[in-house]
Amino acid sequence: MSPPVDVLVVGAGPTGLALALQAAAHGARVRVVDARLQPRRPSRAMIVHARTLEVLRPLGVTADLLARADTSPAVELHLGRSTVPVRLGDLAVPDTAFPHLTLLGQQQVERVLAAALADRGVQVEWGTPLGTVADGPDGVAAVLRRDGGSEVVHCAALAGCDGVDSTVRAVAGIGWPGARARPEVVLADVDLAGDLAAGTAHVVVGRGGLMMVVALGEGAPWRMIATRAASDRLPPGTGGPPLPTRELQDLLDGAGLSARVTDVAWSSRIALQHRLATAYRAGRLFLAGDAAHAWSPAGGQGMNTGIQDATALGWRLAAVATSTAPEVLLDSYEAERRPVAAAMLALTRLLFWGESATDPVAATLRGSLAPLAAPLAPWVLARRRLVARGFRVLAQLDTGYRGSPLARTGSTPRSGRLRPGDRVPDASVRCQGRDMRLHELLARPGVHLLLDRDAPDHVPSVVGRLVHVHRLASSPGRGVVAVRPDGHAGFTSGAVDAELSWWLAAVGA
Ligand SMILES: Cc1cc2nc3c(=O)[nH]c(=O)nc-3n(C[C@H](O)[C@H](O)[C@H](O)COP(=O)(O)OP(=O)(O)OC[C@H]3O[C@@H](n4cnc5c(N)ncnc54)[C@H](O)[C@@H]3O)c2cc1C
Repeated sequence: MSPPVDVLVVGAGPTGLALALQAAAHGARVRVVDARLQPRRPSRAMIVHARTLEVLRPLGVTADLLARADTSPAVELHLGRSTVPVRLGDLAVPDTAFPHLTLLGQQQVERVLAAALADRGVQVEWGTPLGTVADGPDGVAAVLRRDGGSEVVHCAALAGCDGVDSTVRAVAGIGWPGARARPEVVLADVDLAGDLAAGTAHVVVGRGGLMMVVALGEGAPWRMIATRAASDRLPPGTGGPPLPTRELQDLLDGAGLSARVTDVAWSSRIALQHRLATAYRAGRLFLAGDAAHAWSPAGGQGMNTGIQDATALGWRLAAVATSTAPEVLLDSYEAERRPVAAAMLALTRLLFWGESATDPVAATLRGSLAPLAAPLAPWVLARRRLVARGFRVLAQLDTGYRGSPLARTGSTPRSGRLRPGDRVPDASVRCQGRDMRLHELLARPGVHLLLDRDAPDHVPSVVGRLVHVHRLASSPGRGVVAVRPDGHAGFTSGAVDAELSWWLAAVGA
């Protein structure tokens, strides 16, 4: 038997690592275990969205992620015989510090998160699968297996970040309705000869489906990502066997890219599914990331949504011991995050159908519409507001929790558009005699109280070490906005009143 912890995180993918990091940054004693024997595995995700960078920023990892990323990717969109250049490095999205597409392999994301976690004294325990779990009145007892033996860990909460085949979901008895997708995805890291522009992402929307060739290979210069009709019933989620070089070449030829595969560092086929867990919580067991939702890679949403689940849950699990309303705090996680996943499931299904459906109607439509779209594409791409609109949706910048039980207003309404539950935008503000961006102020773990210019100095019940108070000279009025550790407004009021004390106590601050 080992010393109890506040949070046992099962799974050290991007979701588990982000969750552990955020919980540790908010004072929780954390352990992270993973069944894998070692951290390295080929990347699946290649895109990190703006909202993900925002929620990770208070955890001190964003600069390191950006230093490894391509934040001004050059893209060539191949539509029929035409090639349309696309630049996604400076989009018209003024309320975020990251108005660009960010290309970065999942392996790099995991490496940065694991290093930040190690800096906080938490080492991932590899080769340690979760066995059984008992959730009783005194907390959770989890059996871990390692080196042929077992260990019982007691924890206040257990976070199941253990992917699509989640053991935690199974032991919690949480349903997993949905279905497998017909097309599969082929991934390969390859060397290519031919005339593909180097350092550029090539995207082909063709009759056969979607093909992307991106300069983000691991062990070889290029990563190929292609959809195709599945030839057999590979189990969903797990990587299938490597592909013969001939099949990779056929995919490139079918997409009309003039390139020859000269070397293959790694390849795999992945069967996909569309599913959403029926609950995100069962007692003290919680689900996050792929353990809670599975969909296609269309739009690059899986890892991003998982990390955003993680940063919605980590601080809650750290705060629950001091919260005066622990059930409201914990239940609000599912109330906020499950509807986000349901919407994402619908969006990714639609996108995936458009880019990869293998039925003759969809294939014919793609095959004939893509060339017709080519002359229109430059016109559409020049509409900066339209492109920004699409970017906001995929980057999840407008995700909010207005209906959350944790979204509260004070006795006096506060003017302005920001409502409890909304993402706090990265506005220009004036604070401590200087002009700055708001997210610079919020870039520390904890709850941030943004006092309007004429709000009273005395803020009730601000006792927590992780409560930071900022007075915004640029914000006229006598009110306050309380910003949660994941960057959403939790409480807004036109006056600093007793309701604020309730809210702070409820979030354990
Ligand atoms: C082709 C492809 C492309 C993609 N591209 C993108 C993209 O661009 N952007 C994006 O956001 N997403 C993308 N995704 C999705 C993304 O890869 C996943 O959503 C992401 O890996 C989920 O992270 P996770 O941490 O929730 O789960 P996982 O990464 O699956 O991690 C789960 C971990 O739990 C461990 N585990 C499992 N069972 C146990 C157990 N019993 N005990 C202990 N440990 C256990 C596993 O070993 C694993 O390390 C893509 C997916 C595919 C297939």
